[in-house]
Amino acid sequence: MAQAVFRAIAEEKVLIVEAGTGVGKSLAYLVPFIYWAYEQERRVVISTFTKALQHQLVEKDIPFLQKALGIRFNYALCVGGENYLCLRRLERAARGGLFDTGLEQRQLEDIFEWRMHTKTGLVSELDFQPSESLWEKICRQPDMCLGKKCLHCEDCFYRKAKKQEFQSQILVVNHHLFFANLSSGEKVLPEYDAIVFDEAQNIEDVATDYLGIEISNFKLKSLFDSISGSHTGRGLLSKLENFRELDRTRIEKLVSDARLAADIFFSGLIDKFPGDTNTLRVRTPDFIPDNLSQPLLSLSAGLKALAEVCKDEEEKIEINALSDRARTIADEVDTLISQSLDGYVYWAEISSKTGTRQRIVLHASPVDISGLMREMVFQRVFPVVLTSATLTIAGSFSFFKERLGLDSAEEILLGSPFNYRENALLYLPSDLPDPGKETRAYINKVSEEIEKILEISRGNTFVLFTSFSMLEKVYESLKGLPYIEILCQGDLPGYKMLEKFKSGSTLSGQKPDRGFVLFGTNTFWQGVDVPGSALECVIITKLPFAVPDDPIIEARTELLQSQGRDPFISYYIPHAVVMLKQGFGRLIRTAEDRGMVAILDPRLRTRKYGKIFLESLPECRVTSEIRDVAEFFAAIRA
Ligand code: SF4
Repeated sequence: MAQAVFRAIAEEKVLIVEAGTGVGKSLAYLVPFIYWAYEQERRVVISTFTKALQHQLVEKDIPFLQKALGIRFNYALCVGGENYLCLRRLERAARGGLFDTGLEQRQLEDIFEWRMHTKTGLVSELDFQPSESLWEKICRQPDMCLGKKCLHCEDCFYRKAKKQEFQSQILVVNHHLFFANLSSGEKVLPEYDAIVFDEAQNIEDVATDYLGIEISNFKLKSLFDSISGSHTGRGLLSKLENFRELDRTRIEKLVSDARLAADIFFSGLIDKFPGDTNTLRVRTPDFIPDNLSQPLLSLSAGLKALAEVCKDEEEKIEINALSDRARTIADEVDTLISQSLDGYVYWAEISSKTGTRQRIVLHASPVDISGLMREMVFQRVFPVVLTSATLTIAGSFSFFKERLGLDSAEEILLGSPFNYRENALLYLPSDLPDPGKETRAYINKVSEEIEKILEISRGNTFVLFTSFSMLEKVYESLKGLPYIEILCQGDLPGYKMLEKFKSGSTLSGQKPDRGFVLFGTNTFWQGVDVPGSALECVIITKLPFAVPDDPIIEARTELLQSQGRDPFISYYIPHAVVMLKQGFGRLIRTAEDRGMVAILDPRLRTRKYGKIFLESLPECRVTSEIRDVAEFFAAIRA
């Protein structure tokens, strides 16, 4: 792989590498790129999907290579600016007494104390999670940053981090930041000369998110409260000094008009949701009257006029920032209602139909990102390396290349060096009902099958679901099993649950007398690394097909149909294969790991397409007999 990366660099090409677990792909791309960046004075961006991989790169692999290669180069982990404490906003917020609750006030005092000794000012370094509304008031915001004019410029955490990034040859980012940089017109990261996308199987989803637009009732409330708090009377207006009462009253009236317009707009939107649905595809422009963009534009203009007469630099920048935000949201409302972006899918979603904390969002997302990827990435930056353990479908890169708009690239497929034949067993029980036809019977039978397996494994097991509703049903039928403790996704924050599962201990450090079984959906299918005997069994309930009535998936289906193609063959199957490979990949993480994957979906055997799934998995022993499972566990635990 390293040789291919050297070649891609020399020939300024795009290289795609599927490298099975254990190949050492990060070292294989780091070494060539570090030499190149050092010798040619270039800068390389390495973009990952998970934090775990970012930490492995900056805490282990890159420091190791700094010593081993014996050359001097700099690197930086880049995170979004909103992760940094802004010293100016911290002081200003404290002066203005902007905190709504006692908790926020106490957290603010702790942050004041913390800022004296933190070296990075990163929110992740705090030993508590500050409230979202508090952090929003004191973090670095691009449109509220005074830059060189700031009194805190010398001590500014964000500026120090930026300096480090500009002095670095290797920048480690995540896909979210990479696409946030692209959609901001490249204002977030320093210029770079090459890109490595690791965990490249997630690029399409992240790009779809970041290249789209959305507005929500929460986003608008946050804007209005930043100007004038509805209940607290706090917000920008309460902090301004030397303003005529008349100006203040005028802006308050504009905020209150815009608030009312937003209430009417979102209430009208809720009424459009039929029955119990939480997602609404919007197929035609002007589906709802636009009573909102004009009041937002008036508010923006009012703030702009206020900024013009403002003498205080800090106040001026904050007023201007809020004015620009109001204008941007007004433009977004117009785009979403007029559906003026071609090739985008428009939809709305709502967290619940009732309650005071309802979140209502209107979205527009690109249906096909291949053109944008070509234009924004592949035609502009060379070389580019894309890698992951799960890119191919039965040995072919076609699906991955097509989804990302990659017309030509060198392709390399490297299997895992781990001995799956010896160390892994694939269990495919033969007498399960079809999940698409007999849902209730299928869930009952799957619960029985999981119970049989857990009776043997007695813990150290992941059970991966494709929906929460199925997870809950199976949990209800198995929660009383005396020999296991089930951890359900959502009971604890994901990282805490994983910590508990890995250590095999309760959070207080006690060893329970029952083994842990983790029930998870999407987030546990990928990016989760549990090496060793803590994880010896992965049960995959259903083949992870995309949900057809998800608006983005539905729009992709329609696009493929309009091109005369079969969406099931050209999208649903390959998409599910990649996800299945990810789920399977949770099991064997090191050369010593041993264990079993059970796939409880009979379609693997009964449908023609099942072969494509099976051919995409690592070669290992396959059985449909539960006694083989018992023997296998007896052998690996002997
Ligand atoms: S330079 Fe910008 S981010 Fe830094 S303290 Fe000043 S305003 Fe905040």
